[in-house]
Amino acid sequence: MGTVYLVGSGPGDPELLTVKAKRLLEEADVVLHDKLPGPEILESIPEERREDVGKRAGGERTPQSAINERMVELAREGKEVVRLKGGDPFVFGRGGEEAEYLAAHEIPFEVVPGITSAVAAPAVAGIPVTHREAASSVSVVTGHEDPTKAESAVDWEALAATGGTIVVLMGVGRLPDYTEALREAGLAPETPVALIERGTRGGQRVAVGTLETIVSVRDEAGIEPPAVTVIGEVAATRERVIEFLANESGGEP
Ligand code: SAH
Repeated sequence: MGTVYLVGSGPGDPELLTVKAKRLLEEADVVLHDKLPGPEILESIPEERREDVGKRAGGERTPQSAINERMVELAREGKEVVRLKGGDPFVFGRGGEEAEYLAAHEIPFEVVPGITSAVAAPAVAGIPVTHREAASSVSVVTGHEDPTKAESAVDWEALAATGGTIVVLMGVGRLPDYTEALREAGLAPETPVALIERGTRGGQRVAVGTLETIVSVRDEAGIEPPAVTVIGEVAATRERVIEFLANESGGEP
């Protein structure tokens, strides 16, 4: 029986892979991946050892059930399998579902944490997600769903009430909906907001505005996924440090 490693790739810069992730990528018989780890990391894995399970066949994503079955099949063949995920495997990465599936099928597995984009993308843009003077908490939420639907899984009103930083993943498309929801919940229109696209990768871009302006800022800059949205006073830190921020790779759109 082989082992399945649920591995986080970090946000995309190959130097932000953990030492362990790098070793497992070198040693694995098969690497199952989607696009999120980014080209720099994926191209470093020999083609014959990787399988793209995020591919869209006829516009459809490979269903999660097919990925689960493939992991089990390979492990039963005695293969050492890396299931590679962008960022951290357990932060909006379905790693939890995969772990449960593997356990239910009696497949030994290991979780290898990665640096999540929720923290790393803001960081390289000069934005700390917490700050002694500006944010004592940080909430990481999905922006993927409709905030106006009655049974929204994300309680924007409660988030606004925390007074802390809000980091939204998968939140480019619905930016207008949740910025509106946060304003209705009482956040000031001048609350700083930053969008970090392709954080830590080649072509990283950063766009900044406020709760009121960020949608037009997004449209003018043409910000696209993958991008992280940071909402809160901490987003203003960037402008105070940018002049000396050396890890910026062409951050301005
Ligand atoms: N497990 C991942 C998140 C997967 S959800 C993690 O821990 O980072 C996919 C979302 O992650 C994207 O929609 C985007 O919001 C964010 N994301 C992942 N990599 C990113 C990057 N390099 N720059 C900006 N956002 C990124």
